[in-house]
Amino acid sequence: MKDKFCPKCGREAEKLFEGMCTDCYLSKKTTINLPAGISVKACKYCGRYFREGKVGGRIAEVIEKDVRDMFESKKRNVKSLVYKIKDGKVHVSVKFDFGGVQKSEEHALDIIEDSFVCQYCSMAETHYYNSIVQIRAPAAKMEKIMQDVRSVMSRLKADRLAFISQIKPMKYGVDLYIGSKGAATKIAKHMKRRFKAELRCTKKVSGKIKGKTISKDTILIIVR
Ligand SMILES: [Zn+2]
Ligand SMILES: [Zn+2]
Repeated sequence: MKDKFCPKCGREAEKLFEGMCTDCYLSKKTTINLPAGISVKACKYCGRYFREGKVGGRIAEVIEKDVRDMFESKKRNVKSLVYKIKDGKVHVSVKFDFGGVQKSEEHALDIIEDSFVCQYCSMAETHYYNSIVQIRAPAAKMEKIMQDVRSVMSRLKADRLAFISQIKPMKYGVDLYIGSKGAATKIAKHMKRRFKAELRCTKKVSGKIKGKTISKDTILIIVR
């Protein structure tokens, strides 16, 4: 039997929450002040997304924390939070629980994209490198070798410095200037396995940063 009245809307109610019917109670409990959108920066060269001070990646990874932070202040009341990215928007479905009364909300936030050149791509543009990979091989094998180099590099997406910043054609092959020492080592190992290449590594001290010696590696890869 309904014998209670909501003082706010005057309707009958079975149960009152903080003295109000469910609808009035929930309308007071809502909600979260969301910004109109989330700004991201997209690198026009590598296509990675960035947010201030964060390492770039796929858009979902980059905005994950921001979406969660928006609901953080209501954490105790958030029962579930799911979101998906579609048509340039973040669609958020959130379920609240206010002392046993549940409420679902849908939000759509615009993704505001700004294009720029990321730190890693600008390093590549300014010919930044940590390793020089010198490949010496018969001309007939060079095309296949370079194909393999590119496929090794393409598997190293997680290594931000895995880029070739300069390719210098040489008399008996090519010199590759590579951002990451790890990537250079992987190319060398691949060449050894695949082409039975002979490897020679040298290190050259190029300076000191905060007392730490910085060296550049040179790996000579000889394919016969
Ligand atoms: Zn009411
Ligand atoms: Zn980039």
